Amino acid sequence: MVSAHLNTSDSADNSRPVLDWTHRLTQLGPRFFTRLQPTPVAAPRWAARNESLRAELGWPAGIFDDDHLQAFAGNALMVGSDPLATVYSGHQFGQWAGQLGDGRAIWLGEAASAQGPQEIQLKGAGRTPYSRGGDGRAVLRSSIREYLCSEAMHGLGIATTRALSLVASPEPVRRETIESAAVVARVAPSFLRFGHFEHFSAQGDTDSLRALADHAIAHHLPQCQERMQRWQGNVYAALLDEVQERTARLLAQWQAVGFCHGVMNTDNMSVLGLTIDYGPFQFMDGFDPGHVCNHSDHQGRYAYGRQPNVAYWNLYALAQAIAPLIDDQPMTLQVLEGYKTLFPQYLGDAMRAKLGLTGSLAPESEREADWTLVEDLMQLMATEKVDFTLFWRQLSHAVLRQSRATTLNNEGWSAVTDLVLDRPRLLAWLERYTARAGQGNFAGMGARMLQTNPKFVLRNHLAETAIRQAKVGDFSEIDNLYNLLKSPFDEHPGFEAYADLPPDWASQLEISCSS
Ligand code: AMP
Ligand code: MG
Repeated sequence: MVSAHLNTSDSADNSRPVLDWTHRLTQLGPRFFTRLQPTPVAAPRWAARNESLRAELGWPAGIFDDDHLQAFAGNALMVGSDPLATVYSGHQFGQWAGQLGDGRAIWLGEAASAQGPQEIQLKGAGRTPYSRGGDGRAVLRSSIREYLCSEAMHGLGIATTRALSLVASPEPVRRETIESAAVVARVAPSFLRFGHFEHFSAQGDTDSLRALADHAIAHHLPQCQERMQRWQGNVYAALLDEVQERTARLLAQWQAVGFCHGVMNTDNMSVLGLTIDYGPFQFMDGFDPGHVCNHSDHQGRYAYGRQPNVAYWNLYALAQAIAPLIDDQPMTLQVLEGYKTLFPQYLGDAMRAKLGLTGSLAPESEREADWTLVEDLMQLMATEKVDFTLFWRQLSHAVLRQSRATTLNNEGWSAVTDLVLDRPRLLAWLERYTARAGQGNFAGMGARMLQTNPKFVLRNHLAETAIRQAKVGDFSEIDNLYNLLKSPFDEHPGFEAYADLPPDWASQLEISCSS
């Protein structure tokens, strides 16, 4: 194990780096970022350390020792890091917002890992030239939500930035009320956003735009070199195509687990197709396609049911930004068209998998018939506002149970029919479903469905309980939730209450943009 040394004033030059830093982003040069130091916070304390992620990355256990607490708080620098904040722009709520940038995320650098090079950012580590009047801080409440949700998404198999650590500080932060500060260390192969491209395009700086695209292709999306054969050798068309495909896959996954992001502005869209910038997100409780999780989103622009179209709108903004590189308008439009085919395909496959009906190679007619089955069920679920996660999990159990019945009986479906008012309607649907699937296949289907439909998601009230305890200095509930959410398909006996319907007080929770 490499010994840990921090480049603090008292442990200086003779220290060796604990991580093997690479920093390829810095090759882009100063038009892309400003070098700066994090601003220290008072009296930092570990609130959570992600041992699984550390081990996956093959980083030494020493990065979580008490010296490194100072580094992950932004109070000291790890030897070899090269802190900076990047500049980007973007569209917020459908309007061009101009220059934004890392207003409170400080990039520490890029380090080699067992999963390839990973960039590390400290979110909430102080002001930057892009803070625009903000304080550069993040509150403990939203930092706990980000820490837990990024690991929950990963547990669900959904591409996301990861959270390595969470440090709490008693330092006051003013939001609607006075709250306390926290710093999340987040990790991703790249934090590049659609907004980074929009920034240089809006400035008419095509050289920088090209440098950025070349950087993304060379270091993060090398598959574009192959993909450009589909686009007459146009590597920038291939880049847009790669991003639209990743975005289509991501959106299908969000929809399939009932995840609402809440702030799908173009500056919150990852070029790698990762879920990024966890703010007022929510896993839906009762199913409602019109559900808006962000109480500041008065128009409902980012309602659950609108997310796929918003993603397309955002891809259009990205396409406009890199159009000067593609330099072929019909081709640019044709690349974007891909989303309109791919998203429904990914969603169709994801929803069929939720029903235990697998096989993306199934014939078109069968996929269409299955989609009708999915749509009819979703309509029923919406009418009933049935709990999204519970319904799919109970259906999975019921299918497994029915596989053992000598003859199918309505009693066997009671776990799902008990969740709705209109039982005859659901029973009629279940009859069609059984006819399609065949009871003989139920055993395998049920087992697969239990690995597809999670028992545990980060419901708002669960996060809220962890937040309330953390505010009085007890961080143990963060670990409890983390342990459930990192393997959300396991039963975790003894933790049934965490998979239950939300309590009455949960409906009063309001999640705003303020974080
Ligand atoms: P968001 O919608 O949270 O992704 O943030 C939009 C923009 O505002 C980004 O450029 C953020 O860096 C910036 N920002 C948000 N909150 C703060 C804050 N407290 N201090 C400085 N910048 C912030
Ligand atoms: Mg953001």
